[in-house]
Amino acid sequence: MDLKDYIRSIPDYPKKGILFRDITTLIKHEKAFANCIDLIVEKSNGFKFNKVAAIESRGFVFASAVSYLVKKPFIMLRKKNKLPSDTYSVDFELEYGSATIEVHKDSIEKNDKVLIIDDLIATGGTAEAAAKLVKISKGSVAGFIFVINLFDLGGCNRLTSAGFKVHNLIEFPGH
Ligand code: AMP
Repeated sequence: MDLKDYIRSIPDYPKKGILFRDITTLIKHEKAFANCIDLIVEKSNGFKFNKVAAIESRGFVFASAVSYLVKKPFIMLRKKNKLPSDTYSVDFELEYGSATIEVHKDSIEKNDKVLIIDDLIATGGTAEAAAKLVKISKGSVAGFIFVINLFDLGGCNRLTSAGFKVHNLIEFPGH
């Protein structure tokens, strides 16, 4: 099964010039979704981690299933003002705009090794912000697993150059 066949590409969404890689067509297919989760779990064996974290919202779809299967706690990195208790906060730039992500102060503890999962890496700004949240929380980043890498947007190289271990299931050009 080639997971690439299940990703829908939508030109000029959410704005002109962006080729949106849509994962809804992958997750609505039970075998493709199951295969995708199994592959992430298999790849996670190469990382030393004790917690799984994901970035709102599409990251949650994949990471919570992985967390259940690897039997490790799941941490939500959420958009601004969504978490009800005390948070750490990081601002960052997106391929199309800017944003803030937050984590509860008591989610990640000192010495935690966190595997960060997201649906897609483009410029790497979101992933870098996620890594900052883990660092501010005094944990360390065990690595990143992405379903899709938009390789020509440089995010994956940005993370590996910063010393992070990264694995991607699918490669697509960004445009
Ligand atoms: P970035 O911070 O540039 O690496 O952007 C990554 C985040 O933005 C991911 O959480 C994606 O869900 C979303 N994203 C960015 N570019 C695209 C794209 N071309 N297609 C689908 N999602 C995207």
